[in-house]
Amino acid sequence: MNLISDIDGVAHVEGVALPAIAARFGTPCYVYSRAALTAAYDAYAAALAGRDARICYAVKANSNLAILNVFARLGAGFDIVSGGELARVVAAGGDPAKVVFSGVGKTRAEMRQALEAGIYCFNVESASELEHLNTVAGELGKRAPIALRVNPNVDPKTHPYISTGLKSAKFGVAFDAARELYRRARDLPHLEIRGIDCHIGSQLLDPQPAADAAAKVLELVDALAADGIVFSHIDLGGGMGIRYQDENVLSTADYLAPMLGVLKDRKEKLLVEPGRSLVGNAGLLLTRVEVLKHGEEKNFAVVDAAMNDLARPALYDAWHTIRKVGAGDTVATAAQRYEIVGPICESGDFLGHDRELALAEGDLLAILSAGAYGMAMSSNYNTRPRVAEVMVDGAAAHLIRRRETVAELLAPESLLP
Ligand SMILES: *Cc1c(COP(=O)(O)O)cnc(C)c1O
Repeated sequence: MNLISDIDGVAHVEGVALPAIAARFGTPCYVYSRAALTAAYDAYAAALAGRDARICYAVKANSNLAILNVFARLGAGFDIVSGGELARVVAAGGDPAKVVFSGVGKTRAEMRQALEAGIYCFNVESASELEHLNTVAGELGKRAPIALRVNPNVDPKTHPYISTGLKSAKFGVAFDAARELYRRARDLPHLEIRGIDCHIGSQLLDPQPAADAAAKVLELVDALAADGIVFSHIDLGGGMGIRYQDENVLSTADYLAPMLGVLKDRKEKLLVEPGRSLVGNAGLLLTRVEVLKHGEEKNFAVVDAAMNDLARPALYDAWHTIRKVGAGDTVATAAQRYEIVGPICESGDFLGHDRELALAEGDLLAILSAGAYGMAMSSNYNTRPRVAEVMVDGAAAHLIRRRETVAELLAPESLLP
């Protein structure tokens, strides 16, 4: 579904006009659609219907409490990577008993917090972590539920920064070492083996690598059964890609089909950990053109959003579609090619290269597909307060995070005596 619909020449999200959001909440701001979040979740639920399965939303993609709450109300579990994210899930009404905890560097304090909250499973990523977790669980008189995150060494064919399942990656344990580690886990008194986990990368467009990973995981599951180690769940991670530009993107059902074909009627519970595909196309960044600079070689549109608000273009050279929001804009001038840039003192501070747009200063632009790894990766670089977040729900727009103030940014700092 398209996040934006044009009604009388004005871009709307659900029933709310974007210029009205800009007028009420200011720019830049992130705008999300509850209906789009729900539709994305429902597509997973439909694809997995009839199977014992749980959708664990990967919180790091967008951790706003209202977004977590929307998914919690839909029955989602959560995939977290820090104690802070666990606190968010709990604050948003999520059920800790549906939480899996991933990450290569869990601290002992985070392990304690998660054990006390009663999470469903730790996705353990190293031999050392097994030992640390066993010790911490013992100190609390508990048994820690675990899965090993195995590294199936399949190439997900995506950007190297978001490729996580190759032998060279820092994530997970080597496929060939997993069997020995599971035997070790079985012998540790304060661990309880619950499942097996893998996550091979992000923004995956081809469904085959995920299916290949599933096949390798099943091989291991069957080999371990011979050792008397049985699993109640198989977690196949997240990673399904979304359309940013003109990528050929499969529906959720078609993306999952090859993987589900490999699993056939396995009885273990299936967990998936989608992040980007649940929120990416349910959000946009609304920004205003501050300054137009027409040069000999290039034209620049300097907008009020910047790389600190949306890092993906600077970080991965990622493409985001950028469009005008429509009425309320000044009379259209002729279209020209623009570099869409922010005001930050870095040449990498761009949001889009070479975009053909008819612009005037004061125009509103929507930067699409910004719901995932947008606000979540934002920073205060250049002492820029983080922007407001708004969720549209039908005809209503709700402020779900107010804009930060400069005073708040300065508050934690102190001068020398
Ligand atoms: C980031 C991450 C995900 C989510 O990935 P998406 O590409 O956003 O779906 C899932 N599982 C783990 C372990 C992750 O690190």
